[in-house]
Amino acid sequence: AGTVTFEDVHFAYVPERPILRGVSFEVPAGKTIAIVGPSGAGKSTISRLLFRFYEPQRGRILIDGQDIAAVQQVSLRSAIGMVPQDTVLFNDTIEYNLRYGRPEATQGEIEEAARLAQIDRFIKSLPEGYQTSVGERGLKLSGGEKQRVAIARTILKGPPVLVLDEATSALDSFTEKEIQDALDRVSEGRTTLVIAHRLSTVVNADEIIVLDKGVIVERGHHRDLLAAD
Ligand code: ADP
Ligand code: ADP
Repeated sequence: AGTVTFEDVHFAYVPERPILRGVSFEVPAGKTIAIVGPSGAGKSTISRLLFRFYEPQRGRILIDGQDIAAVQQVSLRSAIGMVPQDTVLFNDTIEYNLRYGRPEATQGEIEEAARLAQIDRFIKSLPEGYQTSVGERGLKLSGGEKQRVAIARTILKGPPVLVLDEATSALDSFTEKEIQDALDRVSEGRTTLVIAHRLSTVVNADEIIVLDKGVIVERGHHRDLLAAD
């Protein structure tokens, strides 16, 4: 379950400035689709429409064939797990931060999510800027590590669809590789939509959609897109 379909979606925040102009694509259940394109192309708008922060002026968005216009936002929130660009962590261990997303999660489930997101090395640590009553200091996490904590927290909730808005901040190539690896593991068998800011992190996506000025200008596998250049 979890097929996401955009059918001829048109959207403008203000009438005189169309942002999406007839966008159609499908994320088949269990597959990973990446949306790439220049800043301002309309990529994040796609995820906002999927959460019904806004409604398209034309076209439809479906989950498993059901128009999301008819779905309550609460059910949408449990169907779609959003990994935000920036993650706020609480003053407690990373493990506690994971558990917060789903208090009834078993220890085994937490460890599995941490393993998939490759944060198992430091789940007993505190985030940066915090310290325990006995003075033990928090760990400085890189942007990529924080994003992987967010990934683990989201997958632990077990949503059928995962939406990941990749961090825009400059990442070094090592971090990029780590995110790519974590993404490959968590998206395995899960319906995943990645709003990608770098083509390099989504080489293994089942399809890459190139969006420019609100129109899909190219689509294909990573190798096809490179060949077309
Ligand atoms: P991307 O994610 O590809 O960088 P966005 O979907 O965030 O692009 O934004 C597409 C365009 O919509 C941008 O030009 C942006 O300035 C504009 N935009 C985004 N949010 C709003 C808003 N709330 N009101 C008006 N324009 C907006
Ligand atoms: P930008 O990408 O232009 O920085 P925002 O900071 O508004 O835009 O949002 C970043 C991403 O997080 C967007 O894709 C948006 O859809 C998503 N988002 C924003 N607020 C929420 C929220 N409360 N719940 C889930 N997703 C959100």
